[in-house]
Amino acid sequence: MDRLPRHKSLPLIIAHRGASGYLPEHTLAAKALAYGMGADYLEQDVVASKDGELIVCHDIHIDRVTDVADRFPDRARDDGRWYVRDFDLAELRTLRVHERLNDAGDAPAFPNRFPADRGDFRVVTLREEIEMVQGLNRSTGRQVGIYPEIKEPAWHRAEGFDLSRAVLQTLADYGYRSKDDLVFVQCFDPAEVQRLRFELGCPLRLIQLIDAIAPKVVPEQYEAMLTEAGMAQLASFVDGLGPWFGLLYELADIDGHPVSTGFVKLAHEAGLAVHPYTFRADQVAPGFETDGDMLRWFAETLKIDGVFTDFPDRSRVALG
Ligand code: CA
Repeated sequence: MDRLPRHKSLPLIIAHRGASGYLPEHTLAAKALAYGMGADYLEQDVVASKDGELIVCHDIHIDRVTDVADRFPDRARDDGRWYVRDFDLAELRTLRVHERLNDAGDAPAFPNRFPADRGDFRVVTLREEIEMVQGLNRSTGRQVGIYPEIKEPAWHRAEGFDLSRAVLQTLADYGYRSKDDLVFVQCFDPAEVQRLRFELGCPLRLIQLIDAIAPKVVPEQYEAMLTEAGMAQLASFVDGLGPWFGLLYELADIDGHPVSTGFVKLAHEAGLAVHPYTFRADQVAPGFETDGDMLRWFAETLKIDGVFTDFPDRSRVALG
């Protein structure tokens, strides 16, 4: 797989929701900071608004990252959640975006990050973000890529919106039309990844995301992928894998040191790149002292090809 020439031997640094360790996720401020910190790619999670605009937001719900519950108290669904799909862009524009709250919605998800009661951040569309990245590429002379994720495509289809088709169209509008272009399209839904390639004719690099509940508890839809035959089959239509990092290593019984599960080797033998998620300075995984130690081990021992990180500057330093 092509990598950026500047970092030929180093994993790509993919800014996870922007420099989300420092500023509220998916705000233009977080993306600009990540760009300035030297990220190779900026990630966009994409969902649809009521009027079919592509919105950069991690969830189909918007109540953990904005003041929507205060602004539109009567617009929650029966499950008590507020959905991006129920608001048009003009309404979404009125919301204040803030640092992410926990699942209960009563405290910040990461207590030492940007204060959740501060700042005047706004909802961003995919077009706006692409225009900023492309504008910065022009003004800086750098070549930073984008890394959009199709969020919950089956749910969107049930809502009457073909999210994959809309994302591919927007990408094409902005010149992302081949595997040589600086974009990876990612999705968790295996059926949708196949649909992107075969039915929608996606000409771009595709990444199959792979989730796990615990290191050895993989959802059924991914089980068959984690074999030699499964990887070979995937390699016939995707370019790489985006696994949860816990699938790539385990702790040795004897001394508790990290050892490879063989995932990356298997993927590489099939010709697939591996971009694990998510590396965080304030959430270091078992077996490692710091986020830097963890990243260096993944880079040097496992030889991963890219890394989703909330802290692009620290990842850059660790890999330097
Ligand atoms: Ca994502």
